[in-house]
Amino acid sequence: MKNLLKPWQASRPPQPPAFGDDAAHRAQHRLAVLDDIERGHSGWFWATDAAGCLSYISPVACERFGLAVEDLIGKPFTSLFETDPEHPGERSDRPLQFLLGAHNRLTDVTVRLVPDRCAPGTRRAWWALSGQPKIDVTKPGSDGAFHGYRGSARDITVEYERRIEDSRLAEFDSLTGLANRHRITRRLDSILAAFKGTLRPATLMMLDLDRFKQVNDTLGHPAGDELLRQVAQRLTRVVGTAGEIGRLGGDEFQILLADQEDRGKLGELAEKIIGLISQPYSIDDNHVVIGVSIGMAIAPFDGTEREDIVRAADLALYAAKHGGRGQFRFYSSDLKDEKEERRLLEEALRDAIASVDGGDDSWEEPQLGMVYQPVVRTDDHAVVGFEALMRWEHPERGAVPPSVFIPVAEDTGMILPLGALALRQAAQDAARWPHPLRIAVNVSAVQFAHPEFPGVVADVLAETGLDPERLELELTESVFMGDSETTDAAFKALKALGVRLALDDFGTGYSSLSYLRAAPFDKLKVDRSFVDSCTLSDQNSAKIIAAIIGLADALGMETTVEGVEAFDQRDVVCAKGARLIQGFLYSPPLEQAVVLERMAAGELHIPPDGPKRHRPERRSVYRRIGVIHEDHRYEALLRNLSATGARIEGLVGVPVGTSLVLDLGAGQLAVVTVSRSEDATIGVEFESPLVSDGAGGLVTRYRASPYALAAAARMVSTSAPQFLEVEVRKRA
Ligand code: C2E
Ligand code: MG
Ligand code: MG
Repeated sequence: MKNLLKPWQASRPPQPPAFGDDAAHRAQHRLAVLDDIERGHSGWFWATDAAGCLSYISPVACERFGLAVEDLIGKPFTSLFETDPEHPGERSDRPLQFLLGAHNRLTDVTVRLVPDRCAPGTRRAWWALSGQPKIDVTKPGSDGAFHGYRGSARDITVEYERRIEDSRLAEFDSLTGLANRHRITRRLDSILAAFKGTLRPATLMMLDLDRFKQVNDTLGHPAGDELLRQVAQRLTRVVGTAGEIGRLGGDEFQILLADQEDRGKLGELAEKIIGLISQPYSIDDNHVVIGVSIGMAIAPFDGTEREDIVRAADLALYAAKHGGRGQFRFYSSDLKDEKEERRLLEEALRDAIASVDGGDDSWEEPQLGMVYQPVVRTDDHAVVGFEALMRWEHPERGAVPPSVFIPVAEDTGMILPLGALALRQAAQDAARWPHPLRIAVNVSAVQFAHPEFPGVVADVLAETGLDPERLELELTESVFMGDSETTDAAFKALKALGVRLALDDFGTGYSSLSYLRAAPFDKLKVDRSFVDSCTLSDQNSAKIIAAIIGLADALGMETTVEGVEAFDQRDVVCAKGARLIQGFLYSPPLEQAVVLERMAAGELHIPPDGPKRHRPERRSVYRRIGVIHEDHRYEALLRNLSATGARIEGLVGVPVGTSLVLDLGAGQLAVVTVSRSEDATIGVEFESPLVSDGAGGLVTRYRASPYALAAAARMVSTSAPQFLEVEVRKRA
């Protein structure tokens, strides 16, 4: 066997000489005492020479390491020991090499033997290493020559491992294993601080699950927890090593992406996340569907401090959620007011509901009311029924569209009184019609999920005396997102009342055929979005309309095609089998007074009337932008904008082929080439296409950093302008 301990360990410890002997004896005595200390102590001593190589180590250390002294002595200290690579900040901000190289004093630096020095089968202990540089200050003028280190080390394995485990618990979310709020905040701080100096970008994505609360409430907390775990797994799958994911608590997640500023790539990633998170989950044999909204802010463009970036991402998330959910948004400065606007809208809606509830003796005009849009049979233009649509006329804001206030009502629970109000008013009005035509009323999924809903319908029927056969409730596929037992019970109860059920906006949601099988619908309503594009070269819309009508026919359901505005659309949808149409080509929604008048006059047919051809809305923009050519900046008006090109008005004499830079605002600089030039109008093509902003708008992939913009602002123009800038007015 190898002698591990020679030459320090003698077979018998030296006997201490009596006190008061000569110097040799005293030295021997010291050695013996030291030897005892080394043996009895859980730690060890060490020393290095001026070159940093180990010159002494306690025999016990060799024993612990399972190594021979020869394996250690004479080797550079830093080739033997290392600080914890996974927790570099532990007890020392600097690596060992740095500390030793700088001849710093070491105080409890946590180290361990480097992996390739470890004898097989030995436990790698953690040591708190302390040591002092030995600097010679005895000789005058020696300017403190360094002679190496002298130090000690103490076993701290147990406490260090506990500490690491504690900090892991303190840094990671125990449910999902993702970083927790504390860690992700710290990471964001350190990334922003590190990047500020180097002008590197970083993106913060803020995610909020849609409908998570419903799952939690209906299926219980364990199911909610399982859902969060599965969401975390999916996020990890999409994001991979591109970023760090954290869960802030509840259903809020954050993703930190260092060195990412490309809004094209970020938008794609956000879409991928939205797509994957929206796929159904299987939880305890339940089929659960949720969604996610994403807000993004990019440093340094949207801020350089953590507070600014978090606030910006938060505002973007807020806009994404209220823009219809399942969307992403980039922060832009005009989002600032949206939150406040939303709060005011909520308040106003509360007042509006009160204005109706106030009753007849209230001094207030009711702000909310119902209008009725005819549903017309295509064969003979006979009106077969009406859809009740709510209208809100605010004293100062004017007409607020349902697409704005219905989501607010759903989010705040105000949809319950609002929905009941719509149902009651519509039933009351329909009961007064001289002709017993059908009345369709929209029902929000939130309303439908409420256990009292069938009771409310029954009460309204009883109060108004409306024949249940005449009442049609329009539901959307989102009613299936709730708990399936409640949903089934509601369907049963409603069918027992004898009312009809229609599936609204069909084709826009999940359009799962299993919904059609599971629920007793009498009608499918083909969404307007298909009609909008059915005359365009996009032939799919027309095919989808045909397929939906065919499907409904096969299942013995009626169909209504919504949103027909022009004759060419009517021709297409009729050719695809549409028998009922609801659209401006026949009639807009009408006031109850008008409905009564027409019915009294026996006008129960409406001939179509409208444009021959449907003109798709072309988005024209009228925005002042900057056009930069060489070192001149011109003001111009941006007209049409597409991903690949734009039309600009206000510059005369710009030759085709000229290279320009468009300043689209907020650091969005786009390099373009002039492809057309006529009078004051130029057509330009983007060098790299614009990307989606998540809200139907277009933005540049990259932005000029605030630092670059500040530098550009100091740029002084030296030459004369080459183009003529003319005033153009916004055309209506
Ligand atoms: P919806 O149920 O799909 O209603 C049809 C919408 O299409 C109505 O918009 C109607 O005015 C519009 N429309 C009908 N024909 C045409 C057309 O030819 N061209 C165009 N451009 N539009 C047409 P409205 O009244 O703004 O309602 C929007 C949505 O708000 C409704 O969609 C419905 O989901 C919701 N909503 C309206 N009233 C109520 C209500 O009382 N309760 C609930 N829960 N939701 C309501
Ligand atoms: Mg409807
Ligand atoms: Mg609809």
